[in-house]
Amino acid sequence: MKKYPSLRRLPKFEYIAPTTLEEATRFLSEHKNEARPIAGGTDLLLNMKRRAAVPQFVVGLRNIPDLDRIAYDEGKGLRIGPMVTIHDVETSPLVLEKYPILSQAAATLGSIQIRNLGTVVGNVCNALPSADMVPSLIALGTRVKIINGTDERLVVLEDFITNVGKTVLAPGEVVAELQVPELPSKGAGTYIKYAQRGAKALGICNVAAWLSMKDDTCTDVRICLGAVGQTPIRAVQAEAVLKGQPFTPEKVKEAGQIVSKEAQPRTSLLRGSAEYRKEMVGVLTERALKNVRDQIG
Ligand SMILES: Cc1cc2nc3c(=O)[nH]c(=O)nc-3n(C[C@H](O)[C@H](O)[C@H](O)COP(=O)(O)OP(=O)(O)OC[C@H]3O[C@@H](n4cnc5c(N)ncnc54)[C@H](O)[C@@H]3O)c2cc1C
Repeated sequence: MKKYPSLRRLPKFEYIAPTTLEEATRFLSEHKNEARPIAGGTDLLLNMKRRAAVPQFVVGLRNIPDLDRIAYDEGKGLRIGPMVTIHDVETSPLVLEKYPILSQAAATLGSIQIRNLGTVVGNVCNALPSADMVPSLIALGTRVKIINGTDERLVVLEDFITNVGKTVLAPGEVVAELQVPELPSKGAGTYIKYAQRGAKALGICNVAAWLSMKDDTCTDVRICLGAVGQTPIRAVQAEAVLKGQPFTPEKVKEAGQIVSKEAQPRTSLLRGSAEYRKEMVGVLTERALKNVRDQIG
């Protein structure tokens, strides 16, 4: 069985509390490999206790105003700031109305204590394949706004996470915002997390599915799989089977079978064999697609 490094006391570090994002990125750029940003700390502090990360400086984003804002503009979509917690997204009336799949995903993450501290951006930047917010955000076409001083760039979330715990962020860069596009009105989505202890464990496999329909035809579809590869995986071959086609039980079954082939899980004593997880992620996809179809009506 994989041996997890035991938790030790936190190593010594200096806490830096900038009051603007520009100040934060300047400090991070000047101390490239010695400094790390911290949001809720639910991942970073554990990694420090495991000595997986030993930064000399920890740069808190808490004193920077307005980073905890969720904003929505008609025609543009949703913006999630870097200090927006999982609990904020779970309970935001705006998110519940316009992007319920995100509230649903948030409700599956950890315990209430973790959701109160942990942020959506922290979940994305930690870049684990099992991160619960990521599949739904990818299925919604989210873009990541990255800043470094006064420079900024946008990266599609699908391309942001490159491997287990790895992102395209260069030292000194921080995520300033997640941008979720406006969605067509005749669309809906769902997130299913399959875990041994419901919300209190990382997923064995997870699926986010988003569909839009015109009459009985599927006009757009996005399926993203979690915990079955090195990164969350967009199931593009399964999507191709559904897109532009009448939405039938046969097509849904075929999409599930293709997803089982697209998934690349490994065998884990804690989470099951690769074969089992491949089978289950196909089953979950079928369930998710049927559920979304029922929501659209
Ligand atoms: C008991 C427990 C249960 C958990 N259960 C789950 C679960 O069920 N599902 C799940 O997905 N996760 C789970 N987690 C993991 C964790 O809570 C989430 O990933 C959380 O969303 C991380 O957010 P944070 O704000 O705490 O991140 P932090 O720990 O503050 O940061 C995480 C990483 O992101 C970087 N970072 C943070 N903000 C920025 C930024 N703006 N720009 C650039 N880099 C940044 C940090 O440097 C660090 O590397 C659990 C953790 C614990 C301790």
